[in-house]
Amino acid sequence: MKQDMPVKSEIYQESLSYVPSLFLHSGKEGLQAYRQAVDLVKETLSKFYAAYPKPYRGKAPKEVGVDVKSLWPISEAGESLQDVLQEIYTSLLSNAIHVTHTKSIAHLHCPPLIPALAAEMMISALNQSMDSWDQSAAATYLEEEMIRWLCGAFGYQEGADGTFTSGGTQSNYMGLLLARDAFCWKHWGWNVQKDGLPPEARRLRILCSEDAHFTVKTSASQLGLGENSVVLIKTDHRRRLCVKDLHQKLAQLRQEQLFPFALVATCGTTDFGSIDPLREMAKLAKENGIWLHVDAAYGGALLLSRDFSGKLQGIELADSITVDFHKLFYQPISCGAFLVKDGTSFRFIHHHANYLNPVEDEEEGVPHLVNKSVQTTRRFDALKLFVSLRVIGTERFGEMIDYTFRLAQAAADRISEMDKLTVLNKQPELNAVVFRYQPAFCQDKEMVNKANRLICRMLLQRGSAVIARTSIDGTAYLKFTLLNPRTTIEDIESILEEVQKLGDMYIRGGIH
Ligand SMILES: *Cc1c(COP(=O)(O)O)cnc(C)c1O
Repeated sequence: MKQDMPVKSEIYQESLSYVPSLFLHSGKEGLQAYRQAVDLVKETLSKFYAAYPKPYRGKAPKEVGVDVKSLWPISEAGESLQDVLQEIYTSLLSNAIHVTHTKSIAHLHCPPLIPALAAEMMISALNQSMDSWDQSAAATYLEEEMIRWLCGAFGYQEGADGTFTSGGTQSNYMGLLLARDAFCWKHWGWNVQKDGLPPEARRLRILCSEDAHFTVKTSASQLGLGENSVVLIKTDHRRRLCVKDLHQKLAQLRQEQLFPFALVATCGTTDFGSIDPLREMAKLAKENGIWLHVDAAYGGALLLSRDFSGKLQGIELADSITVDFHKLFYQPISCGAFLVKDGTSFRFIHHHANYLNPVEDEEEGVPHLVNKSVQTTRRFDALKLFVSLRVIGTERFGEMIDYTFRLAQAAADRISEMDKLTVLNKQPELNAVVFRYQPAFCQDKEMVNKANRLICRMLLQRGSAVIARTSIDGTAYLKFTLLNPRTTIEDIESILEEVQKLGDMYIRGGIH
């Protein structure tokens, strides 16, 4: 089809007339299109928030699926942003979980701060990538300074280092990865990065409490050690790792000639917010030559607390720390960090790609953060945390967090006073409250379990509240995770009343 091919000069002359208004750049069309787009989104979201008084509109999963399908097809010619946003509004926004609602209190899922939302706009527009300096320039230094600040705040000394991550899953994975590789190098001169797992790998063990996050196990499996390499330590009456059991398990492992190389302490367990005895665990880890990783995805925010930061004592003894900012630091997803006491540990994951981070650059002192991450292309999430901290200040930040801790205590007290409800953690360590509907007049255990599960679902369907459910030793429980500093005790009381009513209705056969 020779005659159909454009001649070379035509390609150069051809320019796509619509392109300038599709990108943000110095030209007038780009600037104008950007402003219009931002205004449209601003209006759509404002309309959504103003008109959405519930935590959820209440549609069943299948109905939501149908609504979303109605957004198709994708046309050949394209449409205006305004039209697309209008459809998004009806099919998607209306069926979203309203996370900033004061009765959206299910998970470690926070309302995002407005300064962070502002920063997000800059993060995505600038689109810096944190892997190499020539894709980020100033952003690299800002992240480095934020990491320095965080290391200092957690009590780490000179030589500590870290990286921003996608969250606790990645941070825990990195902690265990470095722990594994450091152990193999130290004991057997074995380079896992180059040679894979050593012959002794089947005897490597990770220790954590029964209440530790499931990502300890998933990390173990991804690290080629298998979930069975994770040895679970019992917890005490407050759901903290039991040091006595840790002693015993360590002795047992030694006897079986196994190699415990990592101990994971949790600072803020997912269900109860419990904090493991960090100092005692650090001591045992040191005596046994084990890497101590503290998973403070949730509890790391105690850092800013005015009245409860003492609960973090001992965290500075950890070899590495996980902290999430998309939980109690009120950042939009995703935003987390991984910190390590000895920054040289990152050598275990160094990789030089000639196109990205050549050795010469390192020699010249040009920082390429890809050397400290398991990601390559990476968002500039440090900016939103920085902007939030600068705007709000550490004092108000701490006040907000402390308010939620007190609210949790007040909620636990209220539940204790109610006839048909019982609270499992009477003194919440952070802001998670675990309780259940358990009327004296009904002894049918399975029926009460069902009632609790149903209560959670009915609250969602009615759009009255988004709360969580969990199961502890085969018993169904309900859970509040009180991250939102706008939630009041009145919000809690009205949910509790409804919980009792729904439970009663079910037991009496009113709902199925
Ligand atoms: C949330 C959480 C994680 C997982 O973190 P993501 O940010 O969801 O990846 C790990 N550990 C604890 C204790 C958590 O609360």
